[in-house]
This record gives sequence, C-alpha cells and structure tokens, in this order.
Amino acid sequence: MDYQNSHIANTYARFPIEFVKGKGALLFDRQGNEYLDFVSGIAVCSLGHCHPAVTRAITQQAETLMHVSNLYWTEPQLELAQAICDHSFGERVFFCNSGAEAVESALKLARRRGKILKGPECFEVICLKGSFHGRTMTALSATGQPVYQHGFEPLTPGFKHIPPNNIQALELAVGPRTAAVLVEPVMGEGGVIPLSDDFLKAARELCNTHNCLLIFDEVQVGMGRTGTLFAYKQTPVVPDAMCLAKALANGFPIGAMVATGEAMEFLPPGTHASTFGGNPLACAAAKAVLDTILEPGFLENVRETGQYFRQGLESIALSNKDKIKECRGRGMIQAIELAAPQPDLAMQILEDRCLVLLGHGRILRFLPPLIVTRNEVDRMLEVVEKRLAQIA
Ligand SMILES: *Cc1c(COP(=O)(O)O)cnc(C)c1O
Repeated sequence: MDYQNSHIANTYARFPIEFVKGKGALLFDRQGNEYLDFVSGIAVCSLGHCHPAVTRAITQQAETLMHVSNLYWTEPQLELAQAICDHSFGERVFFCNSGAEAVESALKLARRRGKILKGPECFEVICLKGSFHGRTMTALSATGQPVYQHGFEPLTPGFKHIPPNNIQALELAVGPRTAAVLVEPVMGEGGVIPLSDDFLKAARELCNTHNCLLIFDEVQVGMGRTGTLFAYKQTPVVPDAMCLAKALANGFPIGAMVATGEAMEFLPPGTHASTFGGNPLACAAAKAVLDTILEPGFLENVRETGQYFRQGLESIALSNKDKIKECRGRGMIQAIELAAPQPDLAMQILEDRCLVLLGHGRILRFLPPLIVTRNEVDRMLEVVEKRLAQIA
C-alpha cells in the first residue's frame, strides 16, 4: 500500500507497518509477521488484543441496543457507573469518549464549583510541568509541555504549571483563586514519573485548606496499570475527582470523569453533555474490562509480573551504567531513562519485532498488556539488552 500518498492527515509520524490482527500481547502485520506489543495502543488494550470477554460483551450489546441518548436511561451505563463507584471513592460518573474529554469535564466541574463557592475570580488550576492531559484546546492548556502548545495560542487562561514533587512551589501556587490541582499520580507521557507521597499529601491538605478540588488524571495509569485498580489506591490520598479513558474499554472509545457526589452537584442538568458519552456499546465493553480486572488474582499477577519485569530492567541497567540513567515505574508502566538521546532505538527494537515507546528520544516506556507472560517479558528484555549493547 502507498502510505506516503494516503488521504490520512499527516499528524502522526507513523512506523512503516500495517497491523491486521491481534491476539493477547501479539500483533500481526499484513505479511503475517508476529510482533510482541509492549505499547498496547498506548495503555489501551490492557487485557491484550481482542480479549474474548470484551468481544463477547460488544457482540451481545451490538445485537441488543447500540445507542439511544443521555435523555434516557440504559442498563449498561447504570451498571458501569455502579461498578466504578463500588470500587473507588467515586459516587457519580460523567461518561464521555476520550481522555481529553474526561479532563475537560473535570476542569469544567472545577471552574463552576470554584466560581460558585469562592467567587468569580476562582478559576485557576495548578498543573505540573511535563504533564500530559490531552490535545483539545483546554486539555492542551493544562498540559505542561510547551512543545505541544506551540502554534495554538492563545491557550485557555488560568493554568499554572509547577515542577512535579516540589511542595514549596505547590504551596506558593495554591490560593483563593485556585479551583483545582490537577495531577497524574504517575506522569505517563512526561517520562513515567511517580509523584511522591509527601507531595500528594501536601496537595491534599492544600486543597482541603483552600476548598479546591484535587483531580487525578488516571487516563493512562488507571484500570489496573500500576497494579491496583486505580493508581490513587497506592498513594496516601484520595482525590475528589478522577479522569479515566484509555484502557477503560480495552480499545472501544470511552472516557469517564468520576467524582464525589458533593463535587458532581456542581454539574446539574444542562451544564455539560456528550452525545455518544456512555453509550451502551462502550459501557458494556468497559463493564467486561472491569469484571475481568477484578477477577481474583488478576491484579496480584499484574503486580508480580510487573515486579519481575522491573527486576529484569534493573539488571540491564546495572550492566549498562554508562547508557542508562534510571529505571522508573509501577506495575505494568515501566521506563528506562537513557543517559543520552537515542532517537532510533524504538525503530531498532522494532527490527526484532518488538513494540515499545520512545519519549523525548531518551525515555523507553513499556506498557505491556496486563496479561503479559514471563516468557514474553523475557523476550522483550533480551531484545532491549541486545539493542542497548549495539549503542556505541
Ligand atoms: C492519553 C492521555 C490523555 C488524553 O487522552 P485522549 O483519549 O487521547 O484524549 C489525557 N491524560 C493522560 C494522562 C493521558 O495519558
């Protein structure tokens, strides 16, 4: 196929491969070659490709009811909201279709609440440098990476960016104009940077003192990725709202903004909406994902295999001290920070039919499906070690 002259917008620098099929942690290209996938559609296909429970849920729902409108109730949406709230701090869920929309929803909630409770000047949101919250104009404004914002100014006003894990900067930033503090508990796209317990505790206390919302963007690290159903469960704090998307339905588009009942009061009828949000197909798929993750032993296995993978990465780092700065991560989101940029490394690893992400030229990010086996982990470790050895 002639990819260069395709009619697809040129917004992505794509690898020269076309996938036609996937199963578990494996993908197959048009020529029938097999690839080991440690990208998972960027933390989306967390149960592996074409997980039978999800396929079954979608198939059955497609034969029953695909869409009505949020003007009416549907069972899949009610059941999914119930399941999410049964297993989190949440009491109300707003459904949408993507991570950026989930972030937008949380920001709208925070602004409206801030203005009502604290006055018209209360609309600021404190975010982190290096964060990623999506590409719509306001999610982009929350994102702490000027490289993505360049050329799209003017941005939505009211966002302040402070360095991650800097309590002093946070204390200086939060005040009477603050509507929310928005953070990824483990910063994903920014280089797999876990936030410290002390920083999160300080954020929680400051939000309490100044009556603003603590919002967790768990779009990338939620849904079992870190070894607990939600990443906040491994921190000493509980947020007021959290954003979900990516792995929520294992590849079927869906987003969710989960909040306490008290907070969600500030989005009464008519204040926010989404045509497709929470449609029966997406919700049935997401419910199947949740049920699977909550099966006994599933998350324990994620933690154990994640630990096994991490140990493998650490041992590669030990024997490559000149090339590797650090290993970081939690559960099934792991990264190697290289000492120097290696812009071709992902491509070189791909030559061994393994898929990984390379961020900012020097952060190898691994997002294997949560069902990955130790044999598959070994295969990836072997390839990474071999390709690192070839770096001069
Ligand atoms: C991917 C991502 C988003 C954006 O999600 P989209 O579905 O691409 O809009 C937002 N926040 C985080 C933390 C993400 O990783």
